[in-house]
Amino acid sequence: MNVKVVKFGGSSLADAEHFKQVAQIIKADPSRRYVVPSAPGKRFGSDIKVTDMLYKCYELIRERAGREIIEKQYSQIVQRYESIIKELGLDFDMSGEFEYVKNAMLHSSGRDYAASRGEYLNGIILAKYLGFYFIDAESVIFFRENGTFDEEKTNEVLSAELKLHEYAVIPGFYGCMPNGTIKTFSRGGSDITGSIVARAAQADLYENWTDVSGFLMTDPRIVENPCTIDTITYRELRELSYMGATVLHEDAIFPVRYAGIPINIRNTNRPEDRGTMIVANAESYDKEHIITGIAGKKGFSVITIEKDMMNAEIGFGRKVLEVLEDFGLSFEHLPSGIDTMSVLLSTAALDSCKEKVLGAINSVTSPDSITVEDGVALIAIVGRGMIKAKGTAARVFDAISSSNVNIRMIDQGSCELNIIVGIDENDFETAISAIYKEFVKK
Ligand code: ASP
Repeated sequence: MNVKVVKFGGSSLADAEHFKQVAQIIKADPSRRYVVPSAPGKRFGSDIKVTDMLYKCYELIRERAGREIIEKQYSQIVQRYESIIKELGLDFDMSGEFEYVKNAMLHSSGRDYAASRGEYLNGIILAKYLGFYFIDAESVIFFRENGTFDEEKTNEVLSAELKLHEYAVIPGFYGCMPNGTIKTFSRGGSDITGSIVARAAQADLYENWTDVSGFLMTDPRIVENPCTIDTITYRELRELSYMGATVLHEDAIFPVRYAGIPINIRNTNRPEDRGTMIVANAESYDKEHIITGIAGKKGFSVITIEKDMMNAEIGFGRKVLEVLEDFGLSFEHLPSGIDTMSVLLSTAALDSCKEKVLGAINSVTSPDSITVEDGVALIAIVGRGMIKAKGTAARVFDAISSSNVNIRMIDQGSCELNIIVGIDENDFETAISAIYKEFVKK
């Protein structure tokens, strides 16, 4: 039988109605054997995610707020779960668990422990509702002493455990440190757990259920109703998510990518939609859409260093990059001319040490001039089809210049998977709309 690992995000498990939809989806396909839930998310715009309520509760305890205030905050969390249990008609008393968690939080079990209980408690309820076995992530997901994820140990223990259960629920977001304390991944980390479970189960597919029907070709706040991406490769996705497209946690790609397991982004509220398939290799691409997606980020600065005969000076680039390294700055791009070198990097990171960095570059390179310009945005146009289609770059530049936007930097990745352009931040939305229009809506 096929094995599918299914992860449901917080909005898919926000209340009892959503639990019912989720159960229907799982029961509709017997190969959906391993389920990874998030904590209950928002039920409406101004609602608060259970994870955030738990962080708040932790803060109150840490600040030594009055017992009454803490009890009130905690009881709101308990109410979220109790109403789910009640509305699902489950004959099931969780009060012992709630008491235990509260006491542990009161007795300094830590911030990550507090946050992780959102997934833990939700997992217990979902397992009960589905009639699946509950595997506590604490016993199967491991971190190393230095806080990094321990993939070897986890894979060994988790795959052995999964073999013992045909159907199981494994809560997302957390695991265990060598000293037995709980550690979480970064926010949105249940996606990572889903990917780890998919690898350990040697799944055929990792379905990631959320509240959108897949990845959109670009940001819907900029382009109205953009098309959904049908198929995207891991590499394309890396490029797009790095540039700000979010649906899936960035680190969720690695475990399944190495195991060659595709990810399918699906919509819990519209299970009939195909969603987006994320695959290792896709031969095909949509001839109509040579571009898979367009994403971008604002907030970059360019340091431009000029020096006559720079190109003959061996080690010039290294000296500049060493300064960045000394200040712990990572750079995005290095557009260079014969006698100029520019470094593009995040304004926020540079701001904290700007004068010192400029001083250090000055003293190691003795340039003719060194300038900094802020307010640069980067746009990545990503598509595996670009390699085969002639004239893509020309079309990108034409679309941008026809909309009266000045291009300040161009970078085409050597794999011909992307073209990155740097423009003034104020032109960001105009440029994205123009590129989208050129490639998608004629
Ligand atoms: N509940 C956690 C968060 O809100 C993890 C997740 O949902 O993936 O970040």
